[in-house]
Amino acid sequence: MLTHLECTRCGEHYPADRPQSVCPKDAGILYARYDLPAIKKNFSSARLLARTPTMWRYDAILPDANPVSLGEGFTPMLSSREFSNVYIKDEGLNPTGSFKARGLAAAVTMARHFGLKKLAIPSAGNAAGALAAYAAAAGLEAHIFMPKDVPMANRIECDYYGANVTLVDGLISDCAKKVADMKKEDFWDREGWFDVSTTKEPYRVEGKKTMGYEVAEQLGWRMPQGIIYPTGGGVGLLGMWKAFDEMEALGWIGSERPKMITVQSAGCAPIVKAFEEGKSSSETWTDAATLASGLRVPKPYGDYLILDILKKSKGAAVSATDDEILEATRHWSKVEGIFAAPEGAACLVAYRKLRANGFFKPEDTVVLFNTGSGLKYLDVLDAPQKAVSSAQSAKPQARQIAGIIGPY
Ligand SMILES: [Zn+2]
Repeated sequence: MLTHLECTRCGEHYPADRPQSVCPKDAGILYARYDLPAIKKNFSSARLLARTPTMWRYDAILPDANPVSLGEGFTPMLSSREFSNVYIKDEGLNPTGSFKARGLAAAVTMARHFGLKKLAIPSAGNAAGALAAYAAAAGLEAHIFMPKDVPMANRIECDYYGANVTLVDGLISDCAKKVADMKKEDFWDREGWFDVSTTKEPYRVEGKKTMGYEVAEQLGWRMPQGIIYPTGGGVGLLGMWKAFDEMEALGWIGSERPKMITVQSAGCAPIVKAFEEGKSSSETWTDAATLASGLRVPKPYGDYLILDILKKSKGAAVSATDDEILEATRHWSKVEGIFAAPEGAACLVAYRKLRANGFFKPEDTVVLFNTGSGLKYLDVLDAPQKAVSSAQSAKPQARQIAGIIGPY
């Protein structure tokens, strides 16, 4: 039912029967388009009930290809123990421990479908792990470029999945530049590499859009009043918004939409800055620094689409400091029993701020996206502890623990 690809800038159509990257005319992001009236005739949301609890339950609205699956998607929608009407969509339970599994499962599925053999990606960390896993499952080569200071888990998992890893001295933008520079040389074509960078091929958005289908299905086909989403590259935000439009065309939901909220780290907040200034694209954030490595994206390629969605949905853009993120990570662990990725815990910081300023009312249903598992950030989350304990050991002091007094 996939009919063509459409440029999100100029509207030009391109064939979907071959690998495509971005619009050759204006470098706009290409979206997959389907014959939705035909799908509406042949498929109803009631038929989902009997289907597999993975993102492929929505295969009626995904490209027709044999999936490379590790069981991704249909993650739990957990009711918050702390706030009524708040749900935590726990993407940390995906294969490879993050939401990146969805996009890369779809991208690798289509790459194999088109007969591609070698896939390249610049990544802040979790996308690299996901590509490496799905490439391994599909029998394809993965070539990964990531910052040398990525969380240890990302480096080790890529190694174990058999990917070719290049550690770059810099940020994801430097990794992307390295990939772009290599493309200019004939090496790239000679080797037959294909770029699966964020939004530079059409199918990662298709995988991520299943989060939007799940939010609707798991809430009984009612839209929440808000969705808070940690935004690095923003693929999930794009995908969910696309899913809502598709579902409306299919008659599964009406015209109502949630307010879409971007949360970014105060150490790298290009979308928050652009949103506050009323701009339609972002400027490259200089000296990006945050322990939430997935949010260290100085300029998302899809910024023009992200900002458009925030505006259309009457949403907001909120930043959270590393200290706030760390506190929220610990708070969620203790209160909710969810050991979240720092990016995910940033949603709690944003929700508190939006409740405090009256943007959300207690009765509003709001979905917070925990995009990954804290288990992938052990070295990152342990570092502040180490800093504290080394500061303490430098200055010995008597502490009383359970009646035993002694210097520690
Ligand atoms: Zn175009």
